[in-house]
Order: sequence, then structure tokens, then C-alpha cells
Amino acid sequence: MKATILLTTLFCIITMACNNPQTRQPDSWCNQKPRAQFANLKEVPTTRAWFKVYKVGDNVWAMVEPYNYQEVISYLIVGKEKALLFDTGMGLDTISALVKELTSLPVVVLNSHTHYDHIGGNAEFDSILALNTPYTIHNAQFGWAHPVVKDEVTPAAFCREKLPQVDTANYHIRPFNISRFIPDGYKIQLGGRELEVLAVPGHAPDAVALLDKQNGYLFTGDTFYEGPIYLFAEGTDVKAYGQSIAKLALLAPQLKQLYPAHNTPLAQPAQLVAVKKAFDDIMDGNVNGFDAAATAEYAFAKDAMFFAFRGFSFLIDGQQLEAASLKK
Ligand SMILES: [Zn+2]
Repeated sequence: MKATILLTTLFCIITMACNNPQTRQPDSWCNQKPRAQFANLKEVPTTRAWFKVYKVGDNVWAMVEPYNYQEVISYLIVGKEKALLFDTGMGLDTISALVKELTSLPVVVLNSHTHYDHIGGNAEFDSILALNTPYTIHNAQFGWAHPVVKDEVTPAAFCREKLPQVDTANYHIRPFNISRFIPDGYKIQLGGRELEVLAVPGHAPDAVALLDKQNGYLFTGDTFYEGPIYLFAEGTDVKAYGQSIAKLALLAPQLKQLYPAHNTPLAQPAQLVAVKKAFDDIMDGNVNGFDAAATAEYAFAKDAMFFAFRGFSFLIDGQQLEAASLKK
């Protein structure tokens, strides 16, 4: 026991990981103190208690799910004729009802990728754009079954008081219909507003970012958030992530605002450059990581390495890390 405490303390001192805002008590999702950034954001009142909604840009709303440990964020981006819903969240509450409170325009859905925490409400919508990848098609066809997602609704993972009607015993992600396949570089027209889809595989095979060039906005999905940025789950391609973060970092000079898909809805574009540098340093062997299994907090990330930086962190698959760095 003492050895564990000593190890944890040393780990905290060495990595500063224990100052990372991600570090939380697992049973505190009902009275969770919001991350500092939220104090400066303009909250929009709605009737859906599960979500917190913030106006975070020119006709951009962040729909945050702060009572589940994923802290996932979906975005509504509104043009003159249509609205684009970038992700549909955990599927624990009805996001389509929330969207109706925010816009009366027709809504098109695009997912930052088809991990379960971003497609939970897809089945509520008729118009869904998607990349044509086997991974996307599989997730659309089968959804994510209860055994895979059941840990999202344990007492430690979310605040049930905020969602008394939820059926945790049957919680699963429903399959959905893709209405149109789109390629990398596709431009979505919302009427007076254009959004460009950028394929950024790595975190997931079908990961995309969304660029609003006119406003200087980039919706990063899970390619960038405070983290730990997961690069260890099934379908992760560490080498591809390196290319994708390099592609986004090149955009930084023309950007004004990043909108990540977890934790906090606003980030500075310079973070993309910092993440690229950090990732390259890891690949070049210039930074020491920690075996996730040796940490109390990230032991769930089997065979992954944990790397902490100022403002973000990574969990990276050990084998892919070794293979990718050897090839450099
Ligand atoms: Zn995610």
C-alpha cells in the first residue's frame, strides 16, 4: 500500500499529471466543479438538464455533456439555410430535441469519427454525411452493443440524478443510416457559410476535422483536446495520427479558434503546433513517458504509454509507438 502511494506521489511530482484537470474523483459527476474555462463562457438556457449549452462563436453552439466522465462536446454550426451538427454525443438524452430548441433550420449531421461517444444520437436524424470507410460503415450498421458501452453508465461514470429516466441496463448505441458519402476535402454549404471536411485519420480510421475558413474556426474532433488524447484504442493508427496533426498544425496561422470534442469547447490554434512538436518529440525518443499500467489513473489503457505536456497529454499504444519511432 505504502509503495503504491509512494509511486503515485513520485509519478505526480515527475509528470505534473496530478495537476491535469482530467484528474478527478470517479464518483463525483453530480457535483463536479466545472473546468475553469466555463466560467468565462456564455451559457444558453435550455429545457434539457443533461446538456449544458454555450454560445462559443458566430452562430456556433457547444453542447456539452458534463455529467459523464467523457465530457464530450457536440457542436451546432448554423448557416442561413441549414445547420450542421458535428457529433451527436453519448445518446443518453435526446440531442435532436435540444437542437430543435436552438435552430428551426434543417439539420445535417457529420461525425468527427464514429466512436460511440460521438454518434449516440445519430439514429434521431435523417440526414447524415459520412466518409466511405469500412470502419464507418460497420459502426453505422451495428452501432455499439451494450457490453461494449456499459461502463459509460456505471455510478462512477455519470450522474444518474441528471437523467433519472435513462435505462442503464439497455444502454447501447443505435445503428444509423448514412444518407450520403463524402470525400476528404468536401465542402458543406449551409447558406452563406462553407465548412470543409478534412480527413485526419489516426485517433480513429474515419476521423475528420471541420474547417470554417471564413471565420478561422477549426473543429478538431478527437485529434486535439486536453486529453489524454487517446491513441491506443482499437483502430488507432499512431503513424497516421502524426501525419494528421502535422496537417492541422500547418493551418494554425490562419485560424482564430479551435473547438475540441472533449473537456473544454475553446482552445488556441497555437496548441496544434505544440501538439505536433510534442508528438514528434515522443517519436524521436526525446521525451520519457510512463507505462500507463503503472499509474493508478490510466491503468485501463492496456499496453499504452502516458505522456504529459503543458495543457494536453497522450496515451499511446506501446507497440505502435515502438514501430513508428523505429521507422523514423
Ligand atoms: Zn471521443
